[in-house]
Amino acid sequence: MKERIAQIKDRIEKAALRAGRNPDEIQLMAVSKFHSVSEIQTAIDCGLTLFGENRVQEAVEKFEELSKNNPQIELQMIGSLQRNKVKAILPFVSAIQSVDRLELLKELIKQSKKLKSDKTLKIFFEIHTGEESKSGFQNIETLTEAIELLIQENEAVSLKIEPVGLMTMAPFTKDETLIRKSFQTLKEYQKLLQEKYPQFSFKELSMGMSNDFEIAIEEGSTLIRVGTAIFGERVYS
Ligand SMILES: *Cc1c(COP(=O)(O)O)cnc(C)c1O
Repeated sequence: MKERIAQIKDRIEKAALRAGRNPDEIQLMAVSKFHSVSEIQTAIDCGLTLFGENRVQEAVEKFEELSKNNPQIELQMIGSLQRNKVKAILPFVSAIQSVDRLELLKELIKQSKKLKSDKTLKIFFEIHTGEESKSGFQNIETLTEAIELLIQENEAVSLKIEPVGLMTMAPFTKDETLIRKSFQTLKEYQKLLQEKYPQFSFKELSMGMSNDFEIAIEEGSTLIRVGTAIFGERVYS
C-alpha cells in the first residue's frame, strides 16, 4: 500500500504541475468503504489522514475505534445520506460532502443545533454534472433555494454549519471529453455561487476518483476521493 500511495502522490504532483498548480493545494482522501479496520489502519500508518465513507452504519462501526486510536484522522461522508441517519453520523464526521437536496440540508441544520460539541460541520453541495445515477442538485435554482435557507437560518441563530465547496461525480465512461466537461461544470457552479454569495467560501472542489483524478486536478480539483487505487478492488459481500 505504501508503494501505491507513493505512486498516487507522484501522479497528483505531475498533474498539478502540468496545470501550473501547486500540488499542496490538492488533498488526497482515502475512500475506505468496504475495507476493513486493519486495512484502514495500514493506510493511516502510511501517513493518510483524510477518509471517506458512504454508509452510516459501516462508518460508525469502523471509525468509532479508529478515531479513538488515531486522533489525527478526519472522516467525511461522501455517499447519499438518508435523513434518519444524520443524527447518528454527525458526531463522527468533519464534513458531509454529499448534501444533495433541500430536505437533507434542513435535517443537518436541525441536528447540528443539538450537537453538544462546538465543532462546525463543513458541508459540500453535491452537484449533478453528468453522472448516471443523477445524485446531486440538478440546477442552480434548487441550489440557490438551499443556500437561501442557510442564510435565513444563519440570521436567526449562529449555525454550526459552514459551506466550504462543491462535490461531483463524473460519468463513468472512457470518454475523456465527457469527464472533463463534468468537472468544468462544477467549476462554473463555483464561480456563479462565489459571485452571488461572497459571504460564504466555495473554495473546495471535491472531484476526481481513481480513474479520473488527473483530469480532475487539471480542471481545478482541490480534493480527490480515491478508493481502488489505494486499497485495491472492493469486495462487495
Ligand atoms: C466509492 C467512491 C469513490 C472512490 O471510488 P474509486 O473509483 O474506488 O476511487 C469516490 N467518490 C465517491 C462518492 C464514492 O462513492
